[in-house]
Amino acid sequence: MPFEPLTHEPAVDPGQAREIARDLVVIPNRGVELVPNIGIIGGEHSVLVVDTGLGPGNAEKVLAFATEYARGRELFLTTTHFHPEHAFGAQVFADEATYLVNRAQAADLVHKGPGYLGMFRGLGAPVARALDGVTLIAPDKIYDDAYDLDLGGRVVWLEATGRAHSKGDQVVTVPDAGVLFTGDLVEAGQFSIFPWFPPYDTDVSGLRWIEVLRRLTATGPDLVVPGHGDVSGRRILTDVREYLELLRDETWKRRDSAVSEETIAAEVEALMIERHPEWEGQDWIAKGVGCFCSEHSGHQAAGAGEAPESASA
Ligand SMILES: [Zn+2]
Repeated sequence: MPFEPLTHEPAVDPGQAREIARDLVVIPNRGVELVPNIGIIGGEHSVLVVDTGLGPGNAEKVLAFATEYARGRELFLTTTHFHPEHAFGAQVFADEATYLVNRAQAADLVHKGPGYLGMFRGLGAPVARALDGVTLIAPDKIYDDAYDLDLGGRVVWLEATGRAHSKGDQVVTVPDAGVLFTGDLVEAGQFSIFPWFPPYDTDVSGLRWIEVLRRLTATGPDLVVPGHGDVSGRRILTDVREYLELLRDETWKRRDSAVSEETIAAEVEALMIERHPEWEGQDWIAKGVGCFCSEHSGHQAAGAGEAPESASA
């Protein structure tokens, strides 16, 4: 989600697809805003697509690529979370693939999808055009916490992480290849995206996000496919967690002083930019400060045992 209206097309380019492991391809986002990394994971009899790109036009390109790649194998689609560039092309797959997501994400799509569609349409003409004709469809299959998808000779693990970047975040693990798809729980080369828009959307939780990254690090993937940015080694899970922890600590250090949240945000932003001068998306730092200002260490303990929001569906 950019803050300035986009002037470029948020175009997925399947021509750039590259194999990162055996029968596992990523269509990279090439650093283009509102273009996600898209995964295509093959097995003996089935192929799973991870994320659709923004809107039906992009999704049609992804579907065409996946159909050719599959060569007759059955198609499945999943999305890492409900945000528009990740999920708002699912309608195109309706008759071609089985669309499978976790329950909390399906609920996000119902409760927040229409609002995000409106918000994104305001992000500039190229975005509005890409979203032309979007309809939000219900998934074919919904699971609660975890689902093992058998592609034939390869089982892929789908797992709801519980609320972090959104309520319905899901990660996808390909254990035989050591590959982890994180969606926006991880970005490479940019500051973590905090969709903190009070009073409309306050679902993001920095504290739970830190815990989720700690757990993902323990699974020890070889390759991490972030929501946006380059495919990376497992070290990126630690890098992002350390960034979030520093953002939390620097925010909390100032929170109980008499200064305004605006001043806190400006100070913390300057510090973080100094720490990561090459990262994009500097506007997200202040959003993160706002989120951490609202969170307390007590919430962390309460949140740790919380079910992945399945009760809200
Ligand atoms: Zn997102």
